[in-house]
Amino acid sequence: MKKNITVIKGDGIGPEIVTEAMKVLDKVGAKYGHEFSFHEILAGGCAIDACGKCLPEQSLDACLTGDSVLLGAVGGPKWDGVDKNNRPERALLGIRSAMGLYANLRPAKLFSQLRAASPLNPEIVARGIDFVVVRELIGGVYFGAHDTVEENGEKRATDIMVYSEHEIERIARTAFETARKRRGKVTSVDKANVLDTSRLWREVVTRVSREYPDVAYSDMLVDNTAMQIVKDPSQFDVIVTENMFGDILSDEASMITGSIGMIPSSSLGETKNGMYEPIHGSAPDIAGQNLANPIGTILSGAMMLKYSFDLDEESAEIERAVSAVLDAGYRTADIMDEGGRRVSCSEMGDLICSEIG
Ligand code: ATP
Ligand code: MG
Repeated sequence: MKKNITVIKGDGIGPEIVTEAMKVLDKVGAKYGHEFSFHEILAGGCAIDACGKCLPEQSLDACLTGDSVLLGAVGGPKWDGVDKNNRPERALLGIRSAMGLYANLRPAKLFSQLRAASPLNPEIVARGIDFVVVRELIGGVYFGAHDTVEENGEKRATDIMVYSEHEIERIARTAFETARKRRGKVTSVDKANVLDTSRLWREVVTRVSREYPDVAYSDMLVDNTAMQIVKDPSQFDVIVTENMFGDILSDEASMITGSIGMIPSSSLGETKNGMYEPIHGSAPDIAGQNLANPIGTILSGAMMLKYSFDLDEESAEIERAVSAVLDAGYRTADIMDEGGRRVSCSEMGDLICSEIG
């Protein structure tokens, strides 16, 4: 298979961690006979420095015409003073909306070797944490009308939450398709006892679920879900929810794994062309020191193989290699534990590559 991957190294630790992910993708490609070619483009703070724009047109074109996008991280205090419509983070919003990426997938997976990092009770952790939050990304209250008015000396603010059937239907399909590639279980999260958008959400997801008789489906109220994620995360496989609930629950989900540097994510739309990135930011405090943990980015590459290219076996091979390197005790600074063997960002990438063999 031949694929063109658009690469945005970005700012801060972005270049360091993306370089390692590219090495790993190359290695897997060589092993399984695929050719991944990388097209590096500028977006974010580095693009502002180079040409004054956070998302130059040719960069956006490259994202739209390639087979998928691999991103490190953008932004940092250096660009705090930049006009709000040209901030580094705007580049990501621009790419997401131009590519129509309406689904954000964030796995919460705890590698058994790093159990001690989880803030949860060890008995709960022992049952395992391995689920994905599928968050609707371009609808809901963040994209509805916002307004603040002042009447009789008092301010009143309004934010409108809107969802239409087709928006719910497509994200529901993403969730059921994702579940088919995993353990076959979807929990749809809403607040249907209070909100009309949630009642419609539940109606549509239930309807879509009938097309997937092989996937177990249930609903859960969002407040209960927030509790269940810390009480017994092992009950979840795929959680699907609207934008704001997903924003909150996906942060909660990553925190229970205890290691921000380990978690990948993907943003998907109607086509196979998606965007893959670690969940952490550009970590300017450790940039340029070869200290960062590249695993979140490497696992983002694994997600790309699975969701954009349907290379399930190759994707699993990356996950296996990461797990084997952790088994051998190798740790970057952020996940260092007693008895761990401390390695740099590039050494971690090399170790994962040699494990792929
Ligand atoms: P953003 O607003 O872009 O999310 P942030 O300042 O909230 O940025 P991060 O950039 O993710 O957050 O950094 C938070 C902390 O986690 C920092 O101390 C950073 O060094 C650390 N960190 C983030 N990513 C990694 C990584 N891959 N490896 C090691 N440490 C990391
Ligand atoms: Mg942050």
